[in-house]
Amino acid sequence: MPSVKEITDLVAGGVNEKEKELITKAYEFAERAHKDQKRFSGEPYFNHVFETAKILAGFGMDAQTIAAGLLHDVLKNAKATKEEIKKEFNDDILFLIENVTNLGILKYRGHERHVESLRKFFIVMANDLRAIIIKFADRLHNLKTLKFVPKEKKERIAIESIEVYAPLANRLGMGKLKGELEDVAFPYAYPKEYAQVEEIIKEKKDLYQKNLYEVRKKLEVEFKKNEIKIVEIDYRVKRKYSLWRKLLKYEMDIDKIYDIVAMRVVVESIEECYKVLGIIHSLWNPLPGKIKDYIALPKPNGYQSIHTTIFTGTGGIAEIQIRTKEMHREAAYGIAAHFAYKENSNLKNVKEKLKFKWIEELKNLNYLPDDPKIFLEHLKMDFFNDRIFVFTPQGDVVDLPEDSSPIDFAYAIHSDIGDHIFGVKINGKMSQIFSKLKNRDIVEIITKGSSHPSNKWLEYLKTTIARKHVKSYLEKNSLLNRLKSFGRS
Ligand code: MN
Repeated sequence: MPSVKEITDLVAGGVNEKEKELITKAYEFAERAHKDQKRFSGEPYFNHVFETAKILAGFGMDAQTIAAGLLHDVLKNAKATKEEIKKEFNDDILFLIENVTNLGILKYRGHERHVESLRKFFIVMANDLRAIIIKFADRLHNLKTLKFVPKEKKERIAIESIEVYAPLANRLGMGKLKGELEDVAFPYAYPKEYAQVEEIIKEKKDLYQKNLYEVRKKLEVEFKKNEIKIVEIDYRVKRKYSLWRKLLKYEMDIDKIYDIVAMRVVVESIEECYKVLGIIHSLWNPLPGKIKDYIALPKPNGYQSIHTTIFTGTGGIAEIQIRTKEMHREAAYGIAAHFAYKENSNLKNVKEKLKFKWIEELKNLNYLPDDPKIFLEHLKMDFFNDRIFVFTPQGDVVDLPEDSSPIDFAYAIHSDIGDHIFGVKINGKMSQIFSKLKNRDIVEIITKGSSHPSNKWLEYLKTTIARKHVKSYLEKNSLLNRLKSFGRS
Protein backbone atom coordinates (compact mmCIF):
# COMPACT_ATOMS: atom_id res chain seq x y z
CA MET A 1 0.00 0.00 0.00
CA PRO A 2 1.27 3.51 -0.84
CA SER A 3 1.97 5.79 2.11
CA VAL A 4 3.08 9.36 2.77
CA LYS A 5 6.15 8.00 4.51
CA GLU A 6 7.29 6.29 1.33
CA ILE A 7 7.48 9.74 -0.28
CA THR A 8 9.03 11.67 2.61
CA ASP A 9 11.66 8.97 3.17
CA LEU A 10 13.05 9.80 -0.27
CA VAL A 11 13.69 13.46 0.56
CA ALA A 12 17.41 13.77 1.29
CA GLY A 13 17.75 15.35 4.73
CA GLY A 14 14.13 14.57 5.61
CA VAL A 15 11.12 16.90 5.99
CA ASN A 16 9.93 19.02 8.92
CA GLU A 17 6.44 18.86 10.50
CA LYS A 18 5.00 21.63 8.33
CA GLU A 19 6.27 20.04 5.13
CA LYS A 20 4.98 16.65 6.17
CA GLU A 21 1.57 18.15 6.88
CA LEU A 22 1.40 19.75 3.43
CA ILE A 23 2.39 16.54 1.67
CA THR A 24 -0.10 14.52 3.71
CA LYS A 25 -2.89 16.94 2.86
CA ALA A 26 -2.12 16.75 -0.84
CA TYR A 27 -1.86 12.97 -0.61
CA GLU A 28 -5.31 12.65 0.94
CA PHE A 29 -6.87 15.19 -1.43
CA ALA A 30 -5.52 13.37 -4.50
CA GLU A 31 -6.56 9.99 -3.15
CA ARG A 32 -10.13 11.24 -2.76
CA ALA A 33 -10.20 13.06 -6.09
CA HIS A 34 -8.99 10.05 -8.11
CA LYS A 35 -11.11 7.50 -6.27
CA ASP A 36 -12.62 4.94 -8.68
CA GLN A 37 -10.38 6.09 -11.57
CA LYS A 38 -8.19 3.51 -13.26
CA ARG A 39 -5.06 3.59 -15.45
CA PHE A 40 -4.73 1.66 -18.75
CA SER A 41 -2.99 -1.02 -16.69
CA GLY A 42 -6.07 -1.42 -14.51
CA GLU A 43 -4.35 -0.15 -11.38
CA PRO A 44 -5.80 2.75 -9.38
CA TYR A 45 -5.12 6.15 -10.99
CA PHE A 46 -3.79 7.43 -7.67
CA ASN A 47 -0.73 5.20 -8.08
CA HIS A 48 0.40 7.41 -10.97
CA VAL A 49 0.38 10.66 -8.99
CA PHE A 50 1.91 8.86 -6.03
CA GLU A 51 4.83 7.62 -8.16
CA THR A 52 5.21 11.09 -9.70
CA ALA A 53 5.57 12.56 -6.20
CA LYS A 54 8.16 9.91 -5.34
CA ILE A 55 10.24 10.81 -8.39
CA LEU A 56 10.09 14.49 -7.36
CA ALA A 57 11.17 13.64 -3.81
CA GLY A 58 14.07 11.67 -5.30
CA PHE A 59 15.15 14.74 -7.30
CA GLY A 60 15.32 16.60 -3.98
CA MET A 61 12.47 18.99 -4.80
CA ASP A 62 10.82 21.11 -2.08
CA ALA A 63 7.56 20.12 -0.30
CA GLN A 64 5.40 22.48 -2.40
CA THR A 65 6.54 20.83 -5.59
CA ILE A 66 6.02 17.35 -4.17
CA ALA A 67 2.50 18.35 -3.09
CA ALA A 68 1.80 19.80 -6.54
CA GLY A 69 3.08 16.53 -7.99
CA LEU A 70 0.45 14.62 -6.03
CA LEU A 71 -2.19 17.06 -7.25
CA HIS A 72 -0.99 17.45 -10.85
CA ASP A 73 -3.90 15.59 -12.45
CA VAL A 74 -6.80 16.65 -10.22
CA LEU A 75 -7.87 19.50 -12.52
CA LYS A 76 -7.63 17.38 -15.65
CA ASN A 77 -8.98 13.99 -14.66
CA ALA A 78 -10.75 14.39 -11.36
CA LYS A 79 -13.58 16.61 -10.37
CA ALA A 80 -11.62 19.11 -8.32
CA THR A 81 -11.97 22.81 -9.11
CA LYS A 82 -9.47 25.67 -9.06
CA GLU A 83 -11.37 27.30 -6.21
CA GLU A 84 -11.04 24.18 -4.09
CA ILE A 85 -7.29 24.00 -4.63
CA LYS A 86 -6.90 27.65 -3.80
CA LYS A 87 -8.95 27.26 -0.62
CA GLU A 88 -7.35 24.02 0.54
CA PHE A 89 -3.79 24.86 -0.48
CA ASN A 90 -2.46 28.15 -1.88
CA ASP A 91 -1.97 30.24 -5.02
CA ASP A 92 1.53 28.86 -5.60
CA ILE A 93 0.37 25.27 -5.75
CA LEU A 94 -2.60 26.15 -7.93
CA PHE A 95 -0.27 28.01 -10.30
CA LEU A 96 2.01 25.00 -10.55
CA ILE A 97 -0.85 22.57 -11.23
CA GLU A 98 -2.40 24.85 -13.85
CA ASN A 99 0.92 25.13 -15.66
CA VAL A 100 1.43 21.37 -15.64
CA THR A 101 -2.12 20.83 -16.90
CA ASN A 102 -1.63 23.34 -19.72
CA LEU A 103 1.56 21.65 -20.84
CA GLY A 104 -0.44 18.51 -21.46
CA ILE A 105 -2.99 20.05 -23.80
CA LEU A 106 -1.75 19.88 -27.39
CA LYS A 107 -3.95 20.01 -30.40
CA TYR A 108 -1.67 19.34 -33.37
CA ARG A 109 -0.07 16.23 -34.85
CA GLY A 110 3.45 15.37 -36.00
CA HIS A 111 6.01 18.13 -36.22
CA GLU A 112 3.54 20.86 -35.44
CA ARG A 113 2.75 19.07 -32.24
CA HIS A 114 6.39 19.03 -31.18
CA VAL A 115 6.78 22.69 -31.99
CA GLU A 116 3.71 23.59 -29.97
CA SER A 117 4.90 21.41 -27.15
CA LEU A 118 8.32 23.08 -27.10
CA ARG A 119 6.82 26.55 -27.22
CA LYS A 120 4.63 25.77 -24.24
CA PHE A 121 7.61 24.45 -22.37
CA PHE A 122 9.52 27.66 -22.96
CA ILE A 123 6.69 29.84 -21.74
CA VAL A 124 6.19 27.77 -18.60
CA MET A 125 9.92 27.59 -18.06
CA ALA A 126 10.12 31.35 -17.90
CA ASN A 127 7.24 31.33 -15.35
CA ASP A 128 8.34 28.66 -12.95
CA LEU A 129 10.87 25.95 -13.67
CA ARG A 130 9.29 23.73 -11.04
CA ALA A 131 6.26 23.12 -13.26
CA ILE A 132 8.58 21.69 -15.92
CA ILE A 133 10.18 19.40 -13.38
CA ILE A 134 6.75 18.08 -12.32
CA LYS A 135 5.93 17.46 -15.97
CA PHE A 136 9.22 15.57 -16.34
CA ALA A 137 8.38 13.32 -13.37
CA ASP A 138 4.86 12.79 -14.75
CA ARG A 139 6.26 11.82 -18.15
CA LEU A 140 8.89 9.50 -16.68
CA HIS A 141 6.24 7.53 -14.83
CA ASN A 142 3.98 7.46 -17.89
CA LEU A 143 6.86 6.03 -19.90
CA LYS A 144 7.48 3.36 -17.30
CA THR A 145 3.88 2.16 -17.69
CA LEU A 146 3.78 2.68 -21.45
CA LYS A 147 3.35 -0.96 -22.34
CA PHE A 148 -0.34 -0.77 -21.35
CA VAL A 149 -1.06 2.18 -23.64
CA PRO A 150 -2.66 1.73 -27.11
CA LYS A 151 -0.10 1.26 -29.90
CA GLU A 152 -0.16 4.56 -31.86
CA LYS A 153 -0.26 6.61 -28.70
CA LYS A 154 2.65 4.61 -27.35
CA GLU A 155 4.94 5.47 -30.24
CA ARG A 156 3.94 9.12 -30.22
CA ILE A 157 4.68 9.50 -26.50
CA ALA A 158 8.02 7.71 -26.87
CA ILE A 159 9.21 9.88 -29.77
CA GLU A 160 8.05 13.08 -28.11
CA SER A 161 9.95 12.10 -24.98
CA ILE A 162 13.15 11.68 -26.99
CA GLU A 163 12.69 14.78 -29.16
CA VAL A 164 11.29 17.26 -26.67
CA TYR A 165 11.60 16.14 -23.06
CA ALA A 166 15.08 14.62 -23.03
CA PRO A 167 16.87 17.54 -24.75
CA LEU A 168 15.18 19.95 -22.35
CA ALA A 169 16.21 17.86 -19.34
CA ASN A 170 19.73 17.86 -20.72
CA ARG A 171 19.72 21.60 -21.17
CA LEU A 172 18.67 21.95 -17.53
CA GLY A 173 21.59 19.75 -16.53
CA MET A 174 19.37 16.88 -15.36
CA GLY A 175 21.62 14.18 -16.77
CA LYS A 176 20.12 11.27 -14.90
CA LEU A 177 16.59 12.15 -15.94
CA LYS A 178 17.61 12.73 -19.55
CA GLY A 179 19.22 9.29 -19.67
CA GLU A 180 16.24 7.62 -18.05
CA LEU A 181 13.71 9.28 -20.35
CA GLU A 182 15.66 8.24 -23.43
CA ASP A 183 16.28 4.69 -22.35
CA VAL A 184 12.70 4.00 -21.28
CA ALA A 185 11.37 5.52 -24.52
CA PHE A 186 14.00 4.03 -26.86
CA PRO A 187 12.49 0.51 -27.36
CA TYR A 188 9.03 1.97 -28.13
CA ALA A 189 10.34 4.68 -30.44
CA TYR A 190 12.94 2.65 -32.38
CA PRO A 191 12.56 -1.07 -31.56
CA LYS A 192 14.98 -2.39 -34.20
CA GLU A 193 17.81 -0.04 -33.27
CA TYR A 194 17.24 -0.77 -29.62
CA ALA A 195 17.72 -4.50 -30.16
CA GLN A 196 20.89 -3.81 -32.12
CA VAL A 197 22.40 -1.72 -29.35
CA GLU A 198 21.48 -4.23 -26.68
CA GLU A 199 23.38 -6.86 -28.63
CA ILE A 200 26.48 -4.66 -28.89
CA ILE A 201 26.49 -3.83 -25.20
CA LYS A 202 26.12 -7.46 -24.23
CA GLU A 203 29.12 -8.30 -26.35
CA LYS A 204 31.47 -5.54 -25.16
CA LYS A 205 30.50 -4.78 -21.59
CA ASP A 206 32.46 -7.57 -19.88
CA LEU A 207 35.59 -6.88 -21.83
CA TYR A 208 35.64 -3.21 -20.86
CA GLN A 209 34.73 -3.95 -17.28
CA LYS A 210 37.59 -6.41 -16.99
CA ASN A 211 39.98 -3.78 -18.31
CA LEU A 212 38.75 -1.24 -15.80
CA TYR A 213 38.97 -3.67 -12.94
CA GLU A 214 42.75 -3.89 -13.37
CA VAL A 215 43.01 -0.10 -13.63
CA ARG A 216 40.99 0.30 -10.47
CA LYS A 217 43.13 -2.06 -8.42
CA LYS A 218 46.30 -0.24 -9.40
CA LEU A 219 44.72 3.17 -8.75
CA GLU A 220 43.50 2.28 -5.30
CA VAL A 221 47.02 1.39 -4.19
CA GLU A 222 48.34 4.64 -5.63
CA PHE A 223 45.61 6.77 -4.01
CA LYS A 224 46.43 5.29 -0.64
CA LYS A 225 50.13 6.05 -1.09
CA ASN A 226 49.28 9.67 -1.95
CA GLU A 227 46.72 9.97 0.86
CA ILE A 228 43.87 10.87 -1.40
CA LYS A 229 40.51 10.20 0.19
CA ILE A 230 38.21 8.61 -2.33
CA VAL A 231 34.51 9.16 -1.79
CA GLU A 232 33.48 6.65 -4.39
CA ILE A 233 34.77 4.70 -7.38
CA ASP A 234 32.23 3.11 -9.65
CA TYR A 235 31.62 2.18 -13.27
CA ARG A 236 28.91 3.54 -15.40
CA VAL A 237 27.74 1.70 -18.49
CA LYS A 238 26.86 4.08 -21.28
CA ARG A 239 23.13 4.59 -21.72
CA LYS A 240 21.70 2.67 -24.64
CA TYR A 241 20.16 5.59 -26.50
CA SER A 242 23.24 7.74 -26.12
CA LEU A 243 25.41 4.87 -27.35
CA TRP A 244 23.22 4.57 -30.42
CA ARG A 245 23.58 8.31 -31.14
CA LYS A 246 27.33 8.01 -30.81
CA LEU A 247 27.42 4.96 -33.09
CA LEU A 248 25.59 6.96 -35.76
CA LYS A 249 28.24 9.66 -35.44
CA TYR A 250 31.05 7.11 -35.94
CA GLU A 251 29.51 5.18 -38.87
CA MET A 252 28.40 2.40 -36.52
CA ASP A 253 32.04 1.52 -35.78
CA ILE A 254 31.96 0.23 -32.22
CA ASP A 255 35.75 0.16 -31.95
CA LYS A 256 35.86 3.95 -32.14
CA ILE A 257 33.81 4.28 -28.97
CA TYR A 258 35.87 4.14 -25.80
CA ASP A 259 33.35 5.00 -23.15
CA ILE A 260 30.92 2.09 -23.32
CA VAL A 261 31.99 1.54 -19.75
CA ALA A 262 33.67 4.43 -17.95
CA MET A 263 35.16 4.61 -14.48
CA ARG A 264 34.13 7.38 -12.14
CA VAL A 265 36.34 8.65 -9.35
CA VAL A 266 34.58 10.90 -6.86
CA VAL A 267 36.71 12.90 -4.41
CA GLU A 268 36.18 15.67 -1.84
CA SER A 269 37.83 18.69 -3.46
CA ILE A 270 38.70 20.21 -6.83
CA GLU A 271 42.37 20.15 -5.88
CA GLU A 272 42.14 16.38 -5.44
CA CYS A 273 40.49 16.01 -8.85
CA TYR A 274 43.65 17.40 -10.48
CA LYS A 275 45.88 15.28 -8.24
CA VAL A 276 43.96 12.20 -9.34
CA LEU A 277 44.38 13.21 -12.98
CA GLY A 278 48.11 13.61 -12.43
CA ILE A 279 48.38 10.15 -10.86
CA ILE A 280 46.42 8.56 -13.70
CA HIS A 281 48.60 10.18 -16.36
CA SER A 282 51.78 9.16 -14.56
CA LEU A 283 50.65 5.50 -14.67
CA TRP A 284 49.14 5.31 -18.15
CA ASN A 285 49.48 7.32 -21.33
CA PRO A 286 46.47 9.44 -22.20
CA LEU A 287 44.99 9.44 -25.68
CA PRO A 288 45.86 12.79 -27.30
CA GLY A 289 42.89 15.10 -27.67
CA LYS A 290 40.76 13.16 -25.23
CA ILE A 291 41.55 15.07 -22.04
CA LYS A 292 38.59 17.29 -21.25
CA ASP A 293 38.59 19.68 -18.34
CA TYR A 294 34.97 20.54 -17.72
CA ILE A 295 35.88 21.71 -14.21
CA ALA A 296 37.76 24.77 -15.39
CA LEU A 297 35.30 25.17 -18.27
CA PRO A 298 31.90 23.68 -17.45
CA LYS A 299 29.57 22.61 -20.25
CA PRO A 300 26.86 25.15 -21.03
CA ASN A 301 24.35 23.10 -19.02
CA GLY A 302 26.58 23.34 -15.96
CA TYR A 303 28.15 19.87 -16.18
CA GLN A 304 31.52 19.64 -14.47
CA SER A 305 34.05 16.80 -14.44
CA ILE A 306 37.46 15.93 -15.84
CA HIS A 307 37.47 13.23 -18.52
CA THR A 308 40.51 11.40 -19.74
CA THR A 309 40.96 8.33 -21.90
CA ILE A 310 44.00 6.14 -21.31
CA PHE A 311 45.83 3.24 -22.92
CA THR A 312 45.56 0.56 -20.25
CA GLY A 313 48.66 -1.24 -21.48
CA THR A 314 47.02 -4.52 -22.30
CA GLY A 315 45.86 -3.20 -25.65
CA GLY A 316 42.80 -1.75 -23.97
CA ILE A 317 41.49 1.78 -23.83
CA ALA A 318 39.44 3.17 -20.95
CA GLU A 319 37.71 6.41 -20.06
CA ILE A 320 37.97 7.81 -16.54
CA GLN A 321 35.83 10.67 -15.18
CA ILE A 322 36.97 12.60 -12.11
CA ARG A 323 34.71 14.90 -10.08
CA THR A 324 33.76 16.11 -6.60
CA LYS A 325 30.68 14.99 -4.64
CA GLU A 326 28.87 18.22 -5.47
CA MET A 327 29.61 17.86 -9.18
CA HIS A 328 28.40 14.29 -9.02
CA ARG A 329 25.09 15.40 -7.58
CA GLU A 330 24.75 18.26 -10.07
CA ALA A 331 25.50 16.02 -13.01
CA ALA A 332 22.57 13.85 -12.00
CA TYR A 333 20.00 16.39 -10.85
CA GLY A 334 21.08 19.66 -12.48
CA ILE A 335 18.67 22.47 -11.88
CA ALA A 336 16.69 20.33 -9.41
CA ALA A 337 19.74 20.26 -7.14
CA HIS A 338 19.41 24.03 -6.83
CA PHE A 339 15.92 23.87 -5.42
CA ALA A 340 17.13 21.58 -2.67
CA TYR A 341 20.11 23.72 -1.66
CA LYS A 342 18.82 27.25 -1.95
CA GLU A 343 21.05 28.65 0.78
CA ASN A 344 24.16 27.92 -1.31
CA SER A 345 26.76 30.48 -2.18
CA ASN A 346 27.34 33.17 -4.76
CA LEU A 347 29.14 30.80 -7.07
CA LYS A 348 25.83 29.08 -7.73
CA ASN A 349 24.24 32.40 -8.69
CA VAL A 350 26.91 33.11 -11.25
CA LYS A 351 26.54 29.67 -12.76
CA GLU A 352 22.78 30.02 -12.75
CA LYS A 353 22.97 33.22 -14.75
CA LEU A 354 25.17 31.65 -17.36
CA LYS A 355 22.93 28.64 -17.50
CA PHE A 356 19.69 30.48 -18.05
CA LYS A 357 20.89 33.04 -20.51
CA TRP A 358 19.62 30.66 -23.16
CA ILE A 359 16.06 30.76 -21.83
CA GLU A 360 16.18 34.53 -22.22
CA GLU A 361 17.66 34.14 -25.70
CA LEU A 362 14.85 31.83 -26.64
CA LYS A 363 12.26 34.36 -25.65
CA ASN A 364 14.00 37.07 -27.61
CA LEU A 365 14.56 35.10 -30.78
CA ASN A 366 11.51 35.67 -32.88
CA TYR A 367 11.30 32.46 -34.78
CA LEU A 368 9.04 32.64 -37.77
CA PRO A 369 7.73 29.13 -38.02
CA ASP A 370 6.45 29.14 -41.61
CA ASP A 371 7.31 25.50 -41.76
CA PRO A 372 7.15 23.66 -38.44
CA LYS A 373 9.68 21.11 -39.61
CA ILE A 374 12.28 23.76 -40.35
CA PHE A 375 11.45 25.58 -37.15
CA LEU A 376 12.06 22.42 -35.18
CA GLU A 377 15.35 21.77 -36.95
CA HIS A 378 16.60 25.27 -36.20
CA LEU A 379 15.53 25.07 -32.62
CA LYS A 380 17.32 21.79 -32.21
CA MET A 381 20.43 23.17 -33.79
CA ASP A 382 20.45 26.32 -31.68
CA PHE A 383 19.63 24.92 -28.31
CA PHE A 384 19.85 21.20 -28.07
CA ASN A 385 22.92 20.23 -30.04
CA ASP A 386 26.19 19.77 -28.29
CA ARG A 387 27.56 23.15 -27.46
CA ILE A 388 31.02 24.65 -27.45
CA PHE A 389 32.51 27.58 -25.56
CA VAL A 390 34.51 30.02 -27.61
CA PHE A 391 36.40 33.04 -26.30
CA THR A 392 36.88 36.61 -27.44
CA PRO A 393 40.47 37.92 -27.14
CA GLN A 394 39.25 39.71 -23.97
CA GLY A 395 38.25 36.37 -22.44
CA ASP A 396 34.46 36.75 -22.78
CA VAL A 397 32.69 33.46 -23.34
CA VAL A 398 30.37 32.84 -26.28
CA ASP A 399 28.25 29.71 -26.15
CA LEU A 400 27.62 28.24 -29.66
CA PRO A 401 26.34 25.01 -31.24
CA GLU A 402 29.01 22.47 -32.18
CA ASP A 403 30.67 23.05 -35.60
CA SER A 404 29.80 26.74 -35.65
CA SER A 405 31.90 28.97 -37.89
CA PRO A 406 33.64 32.28 -37.12
CA ILE A 407 30.70 33.91 -38.93
CA ASP A 408 28.30 32.47 -36.33
CA PHE A 409 30.63 33.77 -33.65
CA ALA A 410 30.73 37.25 -35.21
CA TYR A 411 26.93 37.50 -35.39
CA ALA A 412 26.63 36.24 -31.82
CA ILE A 413 28.63 39.29 -30.77
CA HIS A 414 27.01 41.93 -32.96
CA SER A 415 25.23 42.02 -36.31
CA ASP A 416 27.56 44.81 -37.47
CA ILE A 417 30.61 42.67 -36.87
CA GLY A 418 28.95 39.79 -38.72
CA ASP A 419 27.98 41.95 -41.68
CA HIS A 420 31.55 43.22 -42.14
CA ILE A 421 33.65 40.18 -41.31
CA PHE A 422 36.78 40.18 -43.45
CA GLY A 423 39.06 37.65 -41.79
CA VAL A 424 39.60 35.76 -38.61
CA LYS A 425 42.38 34.79 -36.25
CA ILE A 426 41.82 31.54 -34.40
CA ASN A 427 44.20 31.08 -31.46
CA GLY A 428 46.37 33.81 -32.95
CA LYS A 429 46.60 32.26 -36.44
CA MET A 430 44.95 33.65 -39.56
CA SER A 431 42.21 31.19 -40.56
CA GLN A 432 39.32 30.69 -42.94
CA ILE A 433 36.05 32.35 -41.98
CA PHE A 434 34.39 29.04 -42.90
CA SER A 435 36.45 26.99 -40.40
CA LYS A 436 34.75 24.87 -37.79
CA LEU A 437 35.34 26.30 -34.35
CA LYS A 438 36.39 24.03 -31.52
CA ASN A 439 35.76 24.20 -27.81
CA ARG A 440 37.96 26.87 -26.15
CA ASP A 441 39.20 28.47 -29.34
CA ILE A 442 40.10 32.13 -28.96
CA VAL A 443 38.56 33.95 -31.87
CA GLU A 444 39.40 37.40 -33.12
CA ILE A 445 37.28 38.80 -35.93
CA ILE A 446 38.80 41.25 -38.39
CA THR A 447 36.28 43.58 -40.02
CA LYS A 448 36.43 45.83 -43.05
CA GLY A 449 33.80 48.34 -44.12
CA SER A 450 33.75 47.13 -47.71
CA SER A 451 33.30 43.47 -46.76
CA HIS A 452 29.79 41.99 -47.01
CA PRO A 453 27.82 38.75 -46.63
CA SER A 454 27.49 36.48 -49.64
CA ASN A 455 25.25 33.58 -50.56
CA LYS A 456 28.06 31.14 -49.93
CA TRP A 457 28.06 32.00 -46.21
CA LEU A 458 24.71 30.33 -45.72
CA GLU A 459 26.24 26.90 -46.27
CA TYR A 460 28.49 27.29 -43.24
CA LEU A 461 26.14 28.73 -40.65
CA LYS A 462 24.90 26.83 -37.63
CA THR A 463 22.94 29.46 -35.74
CA THR A 464 19.53 30.80 -36.64
CA ILE A 465 20.52 34.29 -35.64
CA ALA A 466 23.42 34.43 -38.15
CA ARG A 467 21.27 32.88 -40.87
CA LYS A 468 18.60 35.46 -40.24
CA HIS A 469 20.99 38.40 -40.53
CA VAL A 470 22.72 37.09 -43.66
CA LYS A 471 19.41 36.40 -45.39
CA SER A 472 18.02 39.79 -44.56
CA TYR A 473 21.23 41.45 -45.83
CA LEU A 474 21.10 39.49 -49.09
CA GLU A 475 17.44 40.27 -49.65
CA LYS A 476 17.92 43.96 -49.02
CA ASN A 477 20.88 44.06 -51.40
CA SER A 478 19.44 42.11 -54.26
CA LEU A 479 16.59 44.58 -54.16
CA LEU A 480 19.03 47.50 -54.13
CA ASN A 481 21.00 46.02 -57.04
CA ARG A 482 17.87 45.51 -59.05
CA LEU A 483 16.86 49.10 -58.40
CA LYS A 484 20.34 50.31 -59.40
CA SER A 485 20.42 48.36 -62.65
CA PHE A 486 16.87 49.53 -63.33
CA GLY A 487 18.04 53.16 -62.90
CA ARG A 488 20.92 52.63 -65.33
CA SER A 489 18.87 51.16 -68.15
MN1 MN B 1 -0.09 12.69 -15.02
